[in-house]
Amino acid sequence: MWLKFGVARSGELTSIDEVVRGKTQLTCLYCGGSLTAKKGSVKEHHFAHTEETCKPVSQRIKTKAFPSLPLYNNFTIELYGEELEQLKVLWKEYGAQNYAISKDLVNFRWELKGLVESSGDRTYHFTDLGKIPVGALPLALFNKVQEPLLLSELASLESSVEIALSAGLSCLDERRADLLIYRAQLRRILVNSLYFLEVCDSLPSNQWIKPRNNTAHSH
Ligand SMILES: [Zn+2]
Repeated sequence: MWLKFGVARSGELTSIDEVVRGKTQLTCLYCGGSLTAKKGSVKEHHFAHTEETCKPVSQRIKTKAFPSLPLYNNFTIELYGEELEQLKVLWKEYGAQNYAISKDLVNFRWELKGLVESSGDRTYHFTDLGKIPVGALPLALFNKVQEPLLLSELASLESSVEIALSAGLSCLDERRADLLIYRAQLRRILVNSLYFLEVCDSLPSNQWIKPRNNTAHSH
């Protein structure tokens, strides 16, 4: 994860998608340093500090701890090509037929990610979440699955700001910045409709892309 938002003079957050590459008038939410838009063809587009990267940002990059929307950013990078193929086969041969899935067919990572869950009796079944990558959950339902996750992450970021505030913690400003970034991302998907598109095998570790706003379906 990278820094994807900067603060404009008006105080509004501006996304990396809204600026051209090169030095900007924007500043870092965490330290107030000036930002340069990195929009090349290799790395994901992001903001870098024009001077030295501040500690909060470099920590978040290193530990992938920038706040991100559940199932929107996280999900995209965490399911590998081979896993997705296995999951699809499992869906076709078991899930779609409503057959119980035996425990030895289940990759433990899928259970950790909540894609499958135990039915007891050493068998498993697909969750609604698990039906998304195999293409078995319609997009309208996808939103229903995602919404509570989005809101619970918001609540958790809000409460960590409140805790820092009431306890007078020095990390208060950082936590506020996290919350602002999260809210800005949330606002963006609330105003644009959202859907996922499967990409061909040429991108083995990234099966899902988010199309630009103007090409998104409305529903
Ligand atoms: Zn900074």
